[in-house]
Amino acid sequence: MSTLHVVSPFPRSNHSHARCQASALACAERTCAERGSRLTALRRRVLELVWRSHEPIKAYEILDRLHNKPRRAAPPTVYRALDFLRREGFVHKIESMNAYMGCGAPGHTGAAQFLICRLCGMAAEIADAGVSLRLGKRARELDFTVDAQTTEIHGLCAGCRPARRKRGQT
Ligand SMILES: [Zn+2]
Ligand SMILES: [Zn+2]
Ligand SMILES: [Zn+2]
Repeated sequence: MSTLHVVSPFPRSNHSHARCQASALACAERTCAERGSRLTALRRRVLELVWRSHEPIKAYEILDRLHNKPRRAAPPTVYRALDFLRREGFVHKIESMNAYMGCGAPGHTGAAQFLICRLCGMAAEIADAGVSLRLGKRARELDFTVDAQTTEIHGLCAGCRPARRKRGQT
């Protein structure tokens, strides 16, 4: 059993996000080439949009950015692209926000846990095998068969917390 594994931490405000985005795309290209799966132009563009920041993005926002037009009903192509990216492990769906975020370590095993900041909307990802094992064990004790584990924790990231505290103190 592996120990706590931080997949995507909350980024520092001065980090080079262009690098995050570029390395996620390069990783997806490499992985698809190895697996023989097709990273079409649309799938790649959707992944690029998911990685536009560390904030999970909703499908209709992806659509808006793809077309630069007023919002329309989401065509199935975007959902199909998202399904592909999820299957390949490049993006995760944050169920409580109905939004998608890029995975910082595609191919990691086991369920991930997400920390979501309620102020800036950014999310971090950890994949702690101990947590998923324990949840699975408790589920079995209740004679429950787990289809999927979704652990989403809402709170405040370090970048948002001090700003609030400072305002209150000074
Ligand atoms: Zn980044
Ligand atoms: Zn992941
Ligand atoms: Zn925050």
